[in-house]
Amino acid sequence: MLVENKLTTEEIIKATSGILVNGDMGIVFKGVCTDTRIFEPGYLFWALKGKNFDGHNFWKEALDKGAKGLILEYFPAGLKLEELPKTISIILVKDTLRALGDLAQWYRVKKAFKIIAITGSCGKTTTKEFTSELLSKFFKIAKNEANYNNLIGVPLSILSMKGDFDWVVLELGTSVKGEIERLAEITQPQVSAITCIQPAHLEGLLSIEGVLEEKTSLWRKTDPSGWIVYFYDQENLRTQAQKMPQKKLSFGEVKGADLRLLSALPLERGFQVSLEYGGSIYTFEVSLLGRHNLLNLLCAFGICIAAGLNLEELLAKLPCELAFLERAKLIQAGNYVILDDTYNANPGSMEASLFWLRDQPEAFGKKIAILGDMKELGDLAPMFHQEIGKLAGSIVDKAFFVGEMASFYARGFEVSQKPFEVFPTLEDFLERFVITEEKAIILVKGSRALKMERIIKKLCEGR
Ligand code: ATP
Ligand code: MG
Repeated sequence: MLVENKLTTEEIIKATSGILVNGDMGIVFKGVCTDTRIFEPGYLFWALKGKNFDGHNFWKEALDKGAKGLILEYFPAGLKLEELPKTISIILVKDTLRALGDLAQWYRVKKAFKIIAITGSCGKTTTKEFTSELLSKFFKIAKNEANYNNLIGVPLSILSMKGDFDWVVLELGTSVKGEIERLAEITQPQVSAITCIQPAHLEGLLSIEGVLEEKTSLWRKTDPSGWIVYFYDQENLRTQAQKMPQKKLSFGEVKGADLRLLSALPLERGFQVSLEYGGSIYTFEVSLLGRHNLLNLLCAFGICIAAGLNLEELLAKLPCELAFLERAKLIQAGNYVILDDTYNANPGSMEASLFWLRDQPEAFGKKIAILGDMKELGDLAPMFHQEIGKLAGSIVDKAFFVGEMASFYARGFEVSQKPFEVFPTLEDFLERFVITEEKAIILVKGSRALKMERIIKKLCEGR
């Protein structure tokens, strides 16, 4: 990423506790950049090390492209200080990734940003977008774009926020233990929300308890006089929330939730919702897809209330403004209605999408699911696929399973005695699949790695 934001060498040194080994404190950068492919002259090149790459290898390319400085954790081969002009800053730090977080933290403090942090196994981006959309009607806000929710994306997002804002809304993601804690340290939020806890990224987080521990580490770094917002229906999350010192606001369907969804009547492209809050019942219509997104909306309401708004004024801003939903898209292709949910999948989101399919009117025709692997589930992957397969069997009329885990889906599905087919690879599926139904509603969903959007393209072709 290339982030424009004027910073001096002195500021970088101060924020990162780095050592200046060439250049001088007065050298000014136009901004920071971690990728030489998009590098522009005048920037500071931030050499990050990943699993499959090492930015240090690109120091020369960065200088050739006009870098005014390099921030490094070691001297890469070929870099000779005595050969460099004194107009280029070379800053050494212990860990460049950590230093990036430190710089973002320093910048957040300098700008006195008030932070709203959103984490959870699913629904982070959706909730962030809902929250930002609603808050922006009342406040000046900034948010992290797209899905920049990790230890690189969050700091760079913060550094890209140059104006003054009432609230900064950030999605925080994790795949390995400790990431949320570090992101929380960098952001130190005033309001922290957890959308839900599901088995996701189990390879890095080991168990559902590991996921809970990881996500709730956000609350430990949240302003003790601030707010936490959480999904009430999950007992483990509820129990953790009760232990926290912050003010609390919960949402869900279970009795006891502060923002409680009483009913959601499916309309053609949305719901008629009945919601209980503070002893009153509110009824409103909203256009969004999938019941799970209603929970994300409730989470966003909770966050906005914590930010000082009241439910009446939020509801007054609702109509049509939440049409945003880049994740799940409804596509009409001839006689087929396709739910393109190919963005990603884990057991929680699979379940949510299957329930969405279950609630669709009969008039759309037969219900078909094309499900791909759910990645990063570790040793429990076969069990999760089998369970989702079983659930699919109770909902759809026919299923296609794609990927390495397809046979586990099938094992769960076959109990239903409904028709299904197994395809070990996406290529195999694209070559061989046939849908004979005249009219159907088709859910297509799988992990990002499967690139199942290719199926959507094929389904739409010629229709
Ligand atoms: P990522 O980890 O990729 O950043 P995310 O947490 O930001 O994901 P979204 O992008 O908002 O989540 O949604 C991803 C998918 O998760 C959606 O397509 C939907 O199927 C599912 N999903 C979203 N919200 C929920 C929810 N509250 N409960 C269950 N599933 C959900
Ligand atoms: Mg996201």
